[in-house]
Amino acid sequence: MIKVEKLNKSFGDLHVLKDIDMTVYESEVVCLIGASGSGKSTLLRCLNFLEKRDNGKIVIEGEEVTKESHDINEVRQKVGMVFQHFHLFPHKTVLGNVIEAPLMVKKMKKEQAVQLGKDLLKKVGLEDKADVYPSKLSGGQKQRVAIARALAMEPDIMLFDEPTSALDPELVGEVLETMKQLAEEGKTMIVVTHEMGFAREVADSIVYMHEGRIVEKGTPDEFFDNPKEERSKEFLMSTT
Ligand code: ADP
Ligand code: MG
Repeated sequence: MIKVEKLNKSFGDLHVLKDIDMTVYESEVVCLIGASGSGKSTLLRCLNFLEKRDNGKIVIEGEEVTKESHDINEVRQKVGMVFQHFHLFPHKTVLGNVIEAPLMVKKMKKEQAVQLGKDLLKKVGLEDKADVYPSKLSGGQKQRVAIARALAMEPDIMLFDEPTSALDPELVGEVLETMKQLAEEGKTMIVVTHEMGFAREVADSIVYMHEGRIVEKGTPDEFFDNPKEERSKEFLMSTT
């Protein structure tokens, strides 16, 4: 589904991504973990073209999307993203938020978009909130709307950047549950998270980053029970 080869990215003198190689298979859930500042967000943003890489290759569904000739908007439609802060439109209702991109970007017919939006709100357990404004929602509900909104573009791949980090602890579970449900439906997902319980339970593979490099990858069992690298061991010690 995604193949990254020798991806590099710097901000000025700061070399943030160093020769990143990564493969993500269809229906795979990859949890990307590592200390703050290790480059996790930058990697996701490069995959979604919110940042431009310096060099290296990104192939999505067999197409090399890093070629100059490639249409970035086409990639953005294939790859949905959910952020730590929900970025909902405050002046639009919940349903309005979900159907905005299908209407504006995909030029979907209103009735069809509304049906899709309602179906997605049902999926994230918020069908009764369609007509309220985001300010009336809890953080967990807002994030579930953000997930529905990303799904509305029918992406093949979903990227999550610390989707529960801004939430009060009691609201984390409902968002993780929604993500778990997506994983069970076979959605291909890359999830940056500090929720090690979720990573262990839901991920097919763990990718551990340190200072801009992928230091270790493996199954959750391999990584959590038997980390090979010293850096990984230190990281795991620091999180428990
Ligand atoms: P993580 O998500 O793992 O915490 P980031 O990818 O956000 O890490 O950041 C990696 C490094 O790149 C950090 O040192 C951060 O300060 C720096 N960085 C991120 N975005 C920018 C930017 N737009 N301009 C300059 N430096 C940045
Ligand atoms: Mg980050």
